[in-house]
Amino acid sequence: MGNFDYDLFVIGAGSGGVRAARMSAGFGARVAIAEDRYMGGTCVNVGCVPKKLYVYAAEYGKGFHDAQGFGWESTEPHFDWATLRDNKQTEISRLNSIYRNLLTDANAQLIDGKASIVDAHTVAVGTKHYTAGKILLATGGWPHIPDFEGHEYALSSNEIFDLDRFPERLVIVGGGYIAVEFAGIFNRLGAKTTQLYRGPLFLRGFDSDIRAHAAQEIRKSGIDLRFEINVQSITPDSDALNVTLTDGSELQADAVLCATGRKANLDGLGLKNVDIRLSQRGAVEVDEFFCTSEPTIFALGDVTGGIELTPVALAQGMAFARRNFGSREQQVDYDFIPTAVFCQPTIGTVGFTEEEAHARFGDIRLFKSSFRPMKHTLSGRDEKAFMKIVVDASTDRVVGVHMMGPDAAEILQGIAIAMRAGATKAIFDTTIGIHPTTAEELVTMREPWVDS
Ligand code: FAD
Ligand code: NDP
Repeated sequence: MGNFDYDLFVIGAGSGGVRAARMSAGFGARVAIAEDRYMGGTCVNVGCVPKKLYVYAAEYGKGFHDAQGFGWESTEPHFDWATLRDNKQTEISRLNSIYRNLLTDANAQLIDGKASIVDAHTVAVGTKHYTAGKILLATGGWPHIPDFEGHEYALSSNEIFDLDRFPERLVIVGGGYIAVEFAGIFNRLGAKTTQLYRGPLFLRGFDSDIRAHAAQEIRKSGIDLRFEINVQSITPDSDALNVTLTDGSELQADAVLCATGRKANLDGLGLKNVDIRLSQRGAVEVDEFFCTSEPTIFALGDVTGGIELTPVALAQGMAFARRNFGSREQQVDYDFIPTAVFCQPTIGTVGFTEEEAHARFGDIRLFKSSFRPMKHTLSGRDEKAFMKIVVDASTDRVVGVHMMGPDAAEILQGIAIAMRAGATKAIFDTTIGIHPTTAEELVTMREPWVDS
């Protein structure tokens, strides 16, 4: 690859691109990486990190009230949006420079600017052209807002973090991860929150019991959660947005968030100059080694339209670097990827839903439990945890664990390790619990669920 400026040119310094660039450089490859917006990509700037900081902020809201049952007396707390927003930004600026240093310390050359493909070995950034043996597209995704009247007044998740003023009345459109998480955040921060989902039950793809339990808990938390309804139009007024819904009713809002999915970010990428096949959903098609239909161009992360999670993009970046510039070949193993929805309480899930397990294994056993976490006996908070274990009856292997409850994300990470190691229900049963915890319920559910 000596005739090129670089062995690898990465487009996009997000989760996948940074990991691929750093590791490839670590293997001795000559690497350049272009970024036109923010170091660290979606996760660091407008995704996982600011979202989780806002989730922490939101949890305090109820916490002050909960504490009274434990003897703490306090005056009515006051929430200041500007403090949260600005502190969040300070932390993100710190992370931006860490990402920049990680790349330069690894000897990857960082090029600030929008990159576009000129040909199978050439990338342009501004007026400069760079050649590379291999090009990696890691340009991520971009929010998709549907085309309805007044859609230009709707915000996406990109803007919601940095609003000048706290939206006292917020309408959220969508029933996926982002809609559910932001409804929880803004509700707990004190906004009058309405969430609209077009289908009969939100969180499509999650286990049906979790979806039903989530609807119940989210409604109890004060969110006006409505199903079988959508936004029809938004008309601005002098001091509000008038939101007309598909049933003809109207809502007044300070902001409308459309959390209606994301699309591969291919804008201005110059794909017309090469032979890269796209999927029906407009994502870059790749094989298991991240190779596109153009042999010298690779793609990974959200731009490929697979599982849109940071740890997946990271794993893909590592596998790409190892295969192309390291000594080891390794494919990403997509079995039992745990995931969480950071609503209140949190949803954590790993493995097959009941419906998927039934279709795949036929005979399954289910274990379910719903209870009030100990903390809420004194806090007085009306919140219930739910847990469900799905077992392949023929092998006794645990093939799905789904939970909504305190610390579900932290708990499910460990459960995912056990499941990848092939844990059976008998292993769960002989594991001694940690008492008193919510998690111990996962090793004490003995009686299979029988539908009444
Ligand atoms: P990205 O991180 O999106 O990085 C792509 C980068 O490429 C960007 O920095 C972009 O500016 C740059 N770029 C694009 N085009 C060009 C160009 N032509 N030239 C130069 N640079 C370019 N995942 C989780 O696992 N847990 C979570 O809790 C979580 N929360 C989320 C919350 C929100 C609100 C959102 C939107 C996403 C969340 N995700 C979460 C998903 C996660 O952020 C993504 O899966 C992950 O960031 C994908 O990484 P990536 O490398 O594919 O792309
Ligand atoms: P999702 O795909 O999860 O959800 C999109 C939602 O919008 C669905 O409920 C969908 O409905 C609905 N929708 C789509 N089009 C329309 C429309 N025209 N009108 C009304 N509703 C519509 O996408 P998100 O934007 O929530 O998140 C994108 C991805 O980012 C997630 O899939 C996830 O991979 C990642 N993410 C991960 C997080 C985490 O790990 N905690 C947090 C946030 C994001 P329907 O179901 O009917 O199609």
